[in-house]
Amino acid sequence: MPSKTPIYYKKDANRYFYSIEEFNRYIIKKVKKTINKWRMLEIDSKIAVAVSGGKDSMSLLYILEKIEREFPSELYIIHVDEGIKGYSDKNLEVVKNASRELGLPLYITSYRELFDYNIDKVANISIDERRFAPCTFCGVWRRWAINYLALKAGADRVATAHSLDDEAQTILMNILKGSLENILKLKPYPERVDNIVPRIKPFRELYEKEIALYAMLNNIPYNDIPCPYAEEGMRWDIRIWLYEQEDQRPGTLFNIVRFGERIVTQTCIHEKAKEIQRINKCSICGFPSAKSVCKAHELMLFLKKKAMK
Ligand SMILES: [Zn+2]
Repeated sequence: MPSKTPIYYKKDANRYFYSIEEFNRYIIKKVKKTINKWRMLEIDSKIAVAVSGGKDSMSLLYILEKIEREFPSELYIIHVDEGIKGYSDKNLEVVKNASRELGLPLYITSYRELFDYNIDKVANISIDERRFAPCTFCGVWRRWAINYLALKAGADRVATAHSLDDEAQTILMNILKGSLENILKLKPYPERVDNIVPRIKPFRELYEKEIALYAMLNNIPYNDIPCPYAEEGMRWDIRIWLYEQEDQRPGTLFNIVRFGERIVTQTCIHEKAKEIQRINKCSICGFPSAKSVCKAHELMLFLKKKAMK
């Protein structure tokens, strides 16, 4: 073994990486493998990449752009402006630059445009009147807006930058909340539902620290300002606990994600029939919804009602 200092030690595989090229090859191979394993893409897919401007989504954009050069597929950048001063403006700048640099079409919208409120305004509503944290609005609205932009772009896939860490956290969080329904929503393969562009997560087998290292080693431009409203809720506690577990027992995150995959693939066939019955349409936007109004519009109506009082 050469006496050089490794740039990265992959503990769960007991593997050392000594050069940037070697590390990059591993990352690209892993992403391609994940895409193929779950048949995330066709050779001519029209892929909308959801890019916030942070290191994960910017790395995803640059990596997909590299991989997809071999295919007759199309890539679009979609970006949602949250309207958070000192944060969203920086994100927008990073994303616009990337669109220019890579020569990819950019589709933008904002919460203000779609729901009449931006997150700064939501956060200014007094705590006792708010009932929900700003992050709740942001999470629900982002999901809606990403689908809206993907439809607008004419995409047949939406790629998001969720990592192995994100997936493992979400699975544990939903176990603790007792929500099997939410675990079943984490399908690793693209799912067809009317008016919803199928979602894929090409980073679902990469550790967050591997994505961060890739961004750093390859000088990927990104916004490193954290969101001022970033909550330290349940996910944060699970995140810290999972890091300890992963450190002591490398491979723990993988085991959790594999477990989630098994639940999804073995339960979904039976659930499918029930699911089809359960899907209604939102009376405002027409997107699939469990209730008569989707969650995104329920939150908007909640704010409007507050404002009228
Ligand atoms: Zn709706």
